[in-house]
Amino acid sequence: MQILKTPEQVYAFVWGLRRQGASVGVVPTMGALHAGHLSLVNASQQYCDHSVATIFVNPTQFAPGEDLDKYPRTLEADLEGLAASGAAAVFLPEPQVIYPPGYSTAVLPPDVARCLEGQYRPEHFQGVATIVLKLFHLIPATHAFFGQKDYQQLRVIESMVRDLNVPIEIIGCPIVRDPDGLAMSSRNRYLNPSERSRALRLSQALDRAESQLATGETDPRIIEQQMRSVLDGGDSHQGVDSIDYATVVDWRSLQPVDKISGAVVALIAAHVGSTRLIDNRLWPRTT
Ligand code: AMP
Repeated sequence: MQILKTPEQVYAFVWGLRRQGASVGVVPTMGALHAGHLSLVNASQQYCDHSVATIFVNPTQFAPGEDLDKYPRTLEADLEGLAASGAAAVFLPEPQVIYPPGYSTAVLPPDVARCLEGQYRPEHFQGVATIVLKLFHLIPATHAFFGQKDYQQLRVIESMVRDLNVPIEIIGCPIVRDPDGLAMSSRNRYLNPSERSRALRLSQALDRAESQLATGETDPRIIEQQMRSVLDGGDSHQGVDSIDYATVVDWRSLQPVDKISGAVVALIAAHVGSTRLIDNRLWPRTT
């Protein structure tokens, strides 16, 4: 596996493959890789002739006071995992290469970025859209792979690519979970054992939402109440510490619906200890 550090190196490498007629999948990550990230590389390997991962902890998508400084960094294990998954190369840029002095341009994110995460992390999607567009320019891939774990992010990137005519195909991949249901996340490392067990409330609340949808419930308010009661944990004191949102919205626009009649997505953001966790479930399931 090639380790590429400069824009010139990664562009030349990927363009060399494209010139030979090969398809190339790119998998953007912030490192601290787990099986969820590696599932994206596996999907890329299935779809494309070659795969290139990126590892870059993007400072512009973190607000002051968020976890930029303590974000986990596990480079050696990451490189081993990527090599074992068959990635042809990994792009590991330094922050000053991506944001040189004088840098001042950014992407205005699409409408779908305004709700949910956009309400709680107002600058976040501008940072995400900008780094992803920059990576798409630096890495002339045919396909890009993103997890449904970050469901709103996937919708933001799809909209940006469509609105700005970026010549790349976006592929969304299913959420990978631990056996007990917790969605894998680099931030799960922050959880102590009792927090980790309370973190299970997120997937349990989504299970509750899914079973209500399966039995024909069409009122999103009822499903939201049920999700909140699972998240709170009743009298057990085994709930999450606070809920940013627990909601059922249109799967594409992420706007509220009065009555559920088509595809929807249940989305949760909640705090457990000092860790903020997100999870979601599409209905009907696509996988
Ligand atoms: P991150 O390193 O957190 O920025 O994530 C990089 C990519 O991995 C994003 O497309 C995420 O949606 C995806 N990802 C993170 N966790 C999971 C998971 N549990 N299952 C599937 N994809 C994931």
